Amino acid sequence: MEILRTISEVKAAVRPRKRAGARVGLVPTMGYLHEGHLSLVRRARQETDLVVVSIFVNPLQFGPREDYDRYPRDLDRDAALLAPEGVDIVFAPSVEEMYPEPIRTFVEVTGLTEGLCGASRPGHFRGVTTVVTKLFNIVEPDVAYFGEKDFQQLQVVRRMVRDLNMNVEVVGVPTVREPDGLALSSRNVYLRGREREAARILYRAIQRAQELVAQGQRDARALVEDLTAFIAREPLARVDYVAVVDPETLAPVERIEGRVRLALAVYIGSTRLIDNAELAVDNPELEGAG
Ligand code: AMP
Repeated sequence: MEILRTISEVKAAVRPRKRAGARVGLVPTMGYLHEGHLSLVRRARQETDLVVVSIFVNPLQFGPREDYDRYPRDLDRDAALLAPEGVDIVFAPSVEEMYPEPIRTFVEVTGLTEGLCGASRPGHFRGVTTVVTKLFNIVEPDVAYFGEKDFQQLQVVRRMVRDLNMNVEVVGVPTVREPDGLALSSRNVYLRGREREAARILYRAIQRAQELVAQGQRDARALVEDLTAFIAREPLARVDYVAVVDPETLAPVERIEGRVRLALAVYIGSTRLIDNAELAVDNPELEGAG
């Protein structure tokens, strides 16, 4: 496994392999890796010939009052986790390598980025789509792997690739969870003391939603109200949003039918956690046919 720090080294390593017919897989990450990241890496290893993992905490996607400075970073630990997975190249550039001068060009997906995390993190998705475009141009992957954990990000990247005819196939990988349901996240290291237990409220809310839908709840607003009150009963939790949206447009839906997505963002103490899941009503036509 090679650990490369510069764009020119990555291009020099990937291009000859690509020209010789290798299918290139890219897994973009911000590092401090966990089993969620590794499930993306394993999928890439199965499906592609040359696996590139990027590790870059992208300042462009953090707001001024967010956790850019304290975001956990440990390249030695990450490399030790990636080597046994058969990764070929780790691309770990510095901020200066990625942004040698103030960036004047941005890639922005409109509409899909306005709600959910986009509402509380202005500029976040513009930072994501801009850096992902740069990584696509540097690595020239055939396939790129993203987690469903960040569902809005996955759909925004898919839309960018479609709208701009990028020659990349985007693969979404299911969320990896702790045994108690908490979605793995690098930010889980921020949770202190009782906060870790309180963080279970996100997955418990998802399970509650699935139960209520199975029992016949079809009114999205009523479900959101129920879940908001349910989460509020956890003293360490503060809801940022709870939403039921169309999985493609990410616009709120009124009725729960077909396949819709439940998405939530909740502060546990000062740590903002997100999660999401599909709410599926398998046979909407038969509903009420008893
Ligand atoms: P991050 O390092 O948080 O930017 O995440 C890098 C990639 O890993 C993104 O595509 C995430 O959606 C994905 N990812 C993060 N956590 C998980 C998880 N628990 N399960 C699956 N994928 C994840």
